[in-house]
Amino acid sequence: MNFSIPEYILAIDPYKPGKPLAELEREYGVRSSIKLASNENPLGPSPKAIQAIQTCLQSLHRYPEGSGYALVAKLARKLALAPENIVLGNGSDEIIGMLTRALLKPQDEAILPQPSFLMYAIMVRSVGAAPVFVPLDDRLSIDLDAMASRVTPATRMIFLCNPNNPTGTIFSAETFEKFLGRLPLEVIVVVDEAYIEFVTDPQCARGTDYLNADRAVVTLRTFSKAYGLAGLRIGYGIMPTALSGILHRIRQPFNASSPAQAGAVAALNDEAFLHKTIRLVHEGLGYLSESLDRLGIAHFPTQSNFFLIDVQRDADDVFKQMLAEGVIVRSMTAYGYPHYIRINVGLREENERFVKALAKVLEKCEN
Ligand SMILES: *Cc1c(COP(=O)(O)O)cnc(C)c1O
Repeated sequence: MNFSIPEYILAIDPYKPGKPLAELEREYGVRSSIKLASNENPLGPSPKAIQAIQTCLQSLHRYPEGSGYALVAKLARKLALAPENIVLGNGSDEIIGMLTRALLKPQDEAILPQPSFLMYAIMVRSVGAAPVFVPLDDRLSIDLDAMASRVTPATRMIFLCNPNNPTGTIFSAETFEKFLGRLPLEVIVVVDEAYIEFVTDPQCARGTDYLNADRAVVTLRTFSKAYGLAGLRIGYGIMPTALSGILHRIRQPFNASSPAQAGAVAALNDEAFLHKTIRLVHEGLGYLSESLDRLGIAHFPTQSNFFLIDVQRDADDVFKQMLAEGVIVRSMTAYGYPHYIRINVGLREENERFVKALAKVLEKCEN
């Protein structure tokens, strides 16, 4: 076929998602396998969200409310800000895409931490702009100083991830404020807080505290992790109204489906489920970290529902051997860590099964 694709599109490495359970079971003929690869909620969706979605199915012949009225109003009340500060997305992934489309021209620069969430670079490249990667510091935290020093006249945006995926590290409000002070006012700062619900460190910066700063700080949140609704695809951005008005110009009019809106409202109302999730994650992190210590396997402290494990072996090999044990983990090779895997906390029995399988696999794989 004869068509021409822009070079910058050909430069994109496709996103490699965590392996779905159904795929593993098809390929390996195994059953009752477990997935700890995509930082999902092991408890499933909130029962209240399921009920709300079921009710909403009766009206699937109608278009959703394009303004997301009830969900936006609920979020605005909860966060004590104006509805005009919120833009809903088909997952927060879509907000990342809207921001790069609205703000970047070809050749503009966006500064990204590395490694971090892979979608930032994909979306920056998809509009022909240039990602400028800044390595994490030696504690695997985002190096805000180094990022600020990479600003040039071509810099339009900076992406931050707090806690950072895949390292689980955070930056403090104090560090963040110093960082903001070093940036030209026209640079837009995006803080992705997909895991903010799991954070226990009171020093952790929160992007929403800077909504009224004299510069644009955009905060991204999602229902995919702590709220257990990854399959529903709903997330949102919190931003100054000058910017939300721009995103509303370019977004699809019905980008948040009616089940997504209804499910998210119900999930916000189900605080007991959220707290149960957070408790389970914190207990699981304690168990996993003790178990890995006992086995002498290095891992990193985390403020999220996942952590990095240094398997000191080829991570892709460990990933494959774990599949044979019916456990899906995430190899960090695509993130530039060829000897690390990332796992999220599962149910108690899933965590136990993971630890047993890992001990067995590490015994088998040479380092
Ligand atoms: C999982 C994740 C998201 C969530 O994306 P959705 O599109 O809302 O599912 C966003 N950012 C980071 C860092 C993530 O890990």
